[in-house]
Amino acid sequence: MVRRPDGKLTHEVDGEKGPQDACGIFGVWAPGEEVAKLTFYGLYALQHRGQESAGIAVSDGDRILVYKDMGLVAQVFTENDLAVLTGKIAIGHTRYSTTGSSNWANAQPTLRSSEGSTLALAHNGNLTNTGDLAERLFKSSGDAQNHLHATTDTEIMTALISLEKGGSVEANALSILPTLQGAFSLIFMDENTLYAARDRHGIRPLVIGKLETGWVVASESAALDIVGASFIREVEPGEFIAIDEDGLRSHHWTTPEPRGCIFEYVYLARPDTTIAGQSVHPVRVAIGERLAAEHPVEADLVIPVPESGTPAAIGYAKYSKIPYGAGLVKNSYVGRTFIQPSQTIRQLGIRLKLNPLREVVAGKKIVVVDDSIVRGNTQRAIVRMLREAGAAEIHVRISSPPVKWPCYFGIDFATRAELIAAGLDIEEIRRSIGADSLGYVSLEGLIEATNIAESKLCTACFTGKYPMPIPEESGNVKLLLEEA
Ligand code: SF4
Repeated sequence: MVRRPDGKLTHEVDGEKGPQDACGIFGVWAPGEEVAKLTFYGLYALQHRGQESAGIAVSDGDRILVYKDMGLVAQVFTENDLAVLTGKIAIGHTRYSTTGSSNWANAQPTLRSSEGSTLALAHNGNLTNTGDLAERLFKSSGDAQNHLHATTDTEIMTALISLEKGGSVEANALSILPTLQGAFSLIFMDENTLYAARDRHGIRPLVIGKLETGWVVASESAALDIVGASFIREVEPGEFIAIDEDGLRSHHWTTPEPRGCIFEYVYLARPDTTIAGQSVHPVRVAIGERLAAEHPVEADLVIPVPESGTPAAIGYAKYSKIPYGAGLVKNSYVGRTFIQPSQTIRQLGIRLKLNPLREVVAGKKIVVVDDSIVRGNTQRAIVRMLREAGAAEIHVRISSPPVKWPCYFGIDFATRAELIAAGLDIEEIRRSIGADSLGYVSLEGLIEATNIAESKLCTACFTGKYPMPIPEESGNVKLLLEEA
């Protein structure tokens, strides 16, 4: 069984990370184009989905080359690296590890050769039956254990597809996909074909775009915009697609049961992305409006926790008619460095990332809008910082309901024991973070703002109702399956 690592990089500096996304994936089929450079810019647009490692695989029709390393996309690739990655197909990946340690071997795309073809694969999501899959792999190919290059669900999936006896990558993938459980948006390729597939619930996003002379598949529509591809449609839940010189062909390998991750709308996706027909920025503004309607307060100024709290703060200000302003300045680059902070620097904590504008907040009653509370350390530090800067009152407003349950589908919140809302009620959380008042948007309000039916969304981290069986990880995690 693949287990969560102990050895994760600890380059964050404030002792608490927000919800971390699992990965960004990108693929392009475009003979005659600079496919590696297109992939580089696609990954650059998806950097927010994973900052630990980045990789690109390129095929020239005869062989596949992979280049990957630890770090941000712009740290990993130089102009010279991209210049040697020539070909007609490329796939790329930016990683945040949810299974397997954060190290080079676990960076993606994964690569595996078998009879007649080579497979490179990039995955966003998290499988929930990795133990069963590993067993299947070891049974079907006795010595496969010795040939696993890495410790991730992605590596096991890659090995299963490669070692399946069906023949082509396409036939093997169609035979293995139904055995996978959990969340998976996949982009993969052999020497001549680009493939993509999505789990039956479509938990993580995946979209198809068209270039003048080729095709693009990406985690988010914003990545299509950035490389000049026009949005065609989403890869549907339970769909498999293949793209080659004959164009795009599609198979539905299972019956779709859409349950898109609602947290993509709250925080994970870029605001300029569209998921299931809904633009993320207006949804976030609408969530802020609901938040203001549900939790009004008399105040002088609404400020966001930048940048993820910004659209909801705009919505809160719009509905409440309280002026909106910037009261916290963010340094986006601190905390993504591989230079380990010393103890003295670590004690600066959140100040390395956020700094209050004293002249803006001093003497004012402030509404501060954030996207979520995980452990509560960040919000506690922000409240303290705003008080030190002279704020008269601090009212915290959160654009998601309390996160009470862990995510098993590719988002690393924390264990249930670490989630502040799993153990404390809202008044206790308010006291713990030191705010004058605290309000979370209701689940109904959040769902309404997305314009998507509740039955088509995963809301498990708020409700504990998982859309599929989850691995029993510890005594305090109950299996709460929705009634079918
Ligand atoms: S549990 Fe929460 S974060 Fe995970 S997929 Fe479901 S809604 Fe998204």
